[in-house]
Amino acid sequence: MIFQMKNSNTLIQRLKQTPKIIISGAGIGGLSAALCLIEQGIDCEVYEQASELKEVGAGLWLSVNGTRILRSLGLEPQIKESTLEADERVVRLWDSGKTWWLYKKGTTSSSHAPYVMLRAQLHRILIDAVNARKPGTIHLSSRCVGFTQHDDAVEIKLESGEVLRADALIGADGLHSKIREKIFGPLPGRFTKALAWRGLVPMDRLPAHHRSRTVATWVGPLAHVSAYPARWQNQEWMTFSGQVERSDWEIESWHEKGSVQECLSDFTGWHQDIVDIIKNTQTLHKWGLFVRDPLPFWTQGRVTLLGDACHSMVPYLGQGVNMAVEDACVLARCIVANPQDLNLALKKYEQARLDRTTRVANSAASMQYTFHHQDLAHPSTAHDYVSQQWSPEKSRQRYDWIYDYDATTVSV
Ligand SMILES: Cc1cc2nc3c(=O)[nH]c(=O)nc-3n(C[C@H](O)[C@H](O)[C@H](O)COP(=O)(O)OP(=O)(O)OC[C@H]3O[C@@H](n4cnc5c(N)ncnc54)[C@H](O)[C@@H]3O)c2cc1C
Repeated sequence: MIFQMKNSNTLIQRLKQTPKIIISGAGIGGLSAALCLIEQGIDCEVYEQASELKEVGAGLWLSVNGTRILRSLGLEPQIKESTLEADERVVRLWDSGKTWWLYKKGTTSSSHAPYVMLRAQLHRILIDAVNARKPGTIHLSSRCVGFTQHDDAVEIKLESGEVLRADALIGADGLHSKIREKIFGPLPGRFTKALAWRGLVPMDRLPAHHRSRTVATWVGPLAHVSAYPARWQNQEWMTFSGQVERSDWEIESWHEKGSVQECLSDFTGWHQDIVDIIKNTQTLHKWGLFVRDPLPFWTQGRVTLLGDACHSMVPYLGQGVNMAVEDACVLARCIVANPQDLNLALKKYEQARLDRTTRVANSAASMQYTFHHQDLAHPSTAHDYVSQQWSPEKSRQRYDWIYDYDATTVSV
């Protein structure tokens, strides 16, 4: 448990010198790291390039390996309040809508039922928690552009020219990390010839039969869709996430917009339920899906990386956000255990995390050819394919090792 780390606080207090940590990036990973550190009495500040913390992003999955960390930080009530508990989880066939049930509330174990929520909600929960515990931690309009290491400190350069001094720097600055670039140089990803559409639909715009609490994964020969309900700003929404194989659009960004027409043409021939969702989506974003080779290391002296900065992954297992939260927890535990030797603490963090995140990223990449498969093109082969790929045994093989990992207790 993360709370067990509090015993180490006495050690830190005895040292009367808590290290000062600077985090670049107030995304999900950076804020989670700040929260884990503050909870343990470690001084930290977060520097974020954006001028405001806008509520952006569509849906994401918090699986049990992520939620057990947030629970240990006391955030379970907020998470529960932001999510709609699913009544069922299903796999559906892209054209006919034929349905297979993976989970039904009350009849199946819910240990693998994810919390589905909007990124904006999780982001807000983390911002509020950091602000409540240590107001003034998050600095906006502060883009980190470089760093210089010294024996006893690291200096962080902001775009404004200001130079900050800290005992360690965490690069939690996402896909296009500047901190990673300073260590490794430019590291473009490899395009997977697929892109992800993301959008939100006000539930009341959809025909009535959509308004059930169903988490659905639709699978097809060249694309798949996740659609699930969410509650946000006192309204119910349907979140739409559609991954499609397409090699003509290669921009790795969360901010690119696409049109309904273009999205519809990516889902030609799909079931009317999917067409309804796309037609009623408020804003559609498209995100080119890239993979990168695993980095050989994450830590250089007093500087390390976290989250997408060091292990971006495609979204097929819904683990990008969960891996960032796991990193944050393990990093804080390593720092608390070694407050007087941060080089060692950061190295131990890397050792604890590199293999796991590499395995998860590789597994996520391989799922493209499970969700998208030519057997799904024909009703004669689709039935056997889905029954086999989503059998209880196959699901356990696919997910148990991911969900069973406990970052609050794993050996570091
Ligand atoms: C705008 C946006 C929308 C997203 N929408 C979704 C979604 O709908 N579904 C989903 O599954 N995932 C989404 N993600 C990605 C998801 O949040 C991450 O994959 C995952 O949470 C890992 O988190 P992270 O903290 O490593 O990266 P991120 O959450 O991407 O956070 C990185 C942060 O670093 C900041 N930053 C970047 N460069 C600098 C710099 N030089 N100096 C200071 N700050 C910097 C960024 O502004 C950002 O706030 C989105 C990410 C972003 C940024």
